[in-house]
Amino acid sequence: MDANIAKLKEWIAGSDNIVFFGGAGVSTESGIPDFRSPGGLWERHDPMEVATVTALHRNPRRVWEFLIDALASLGQAKPNPGHFALARLEREGRLAAVVTQNIDGLHQAAGSKNVLELHGSILRAYCSRCGRPYPAERMNHGAGVPKCECGGVIRPDIVLYEEPLDDDIVSRAVSAIRQADVLIVGGTSLNVYPAAGLINYYQGHRLALVNLSATPYDRQADLVIHEKIGEVFGQV
Ligand code: ZN
Repeated sequence: MDANIAKLKEWIAGSDNIVFFGGAGVSTESGIPDFRSPGGLWERHDPMEVATVTALHRNPRRVWEFLIDALASLGQAKPNPGHFALARLEREGRLAAVVTQNIDGLHQAAGSKNVLELHGSILRAYCSRCGRPYPAERMNHGAGVPKCECGGVIRPDIVLYEEPLDDDIVSRAVSAIRQADVLIVGGTSLNVYPAAGLINYYQGHRLALVNLSATPYDRQADLVIHEKIGEVFGQV
């Protein structure tokens, strides 16, 4: 076993307060391309037309067309060994929280319970007028824009461009990261703010970065592993 992976394994075995902070790279091993990469959703849709507050007001039908495409591309995706390992660590009482930038629900599908979704979830929707929640996949997809009983437009429960992150989720993420003994950051190039700034709240001395390519935080980390998340977690 690689020495750095062995060290991460040792940290994990000795901790009961691990926090995992993850990005798109966690899901690429489940066959979901990063939105920004070739084959990703932003190749087929202009995010300014389908994922902004302005778009939701002006052309909600287009927003739903995007959502239906996103749900379809997610349809066959299954959690990978990284998701399952994190769920196991939570069951064992070692992992306190998963903080994720992903909206695909794969952590919960793998069995994780305390998942803080910074950008919401594509699996949920809610009424933009009264707030009533709806499961996104049960919307009547052939019939244009779904409406609530109150007449309001039902919108996806994802954080759109031009929208702030949810205060409650952010404060829970900050609190978990601040108190964490081991912070494992995985599958993110840490270029997306404000989410990336969250790791600055970490106060410990066991910050592990697991990402295929280098990140601006590599020099701050106590351990850097440039490999795939699933392959690393398959060994710890
Ligand atoms: Zn409503």
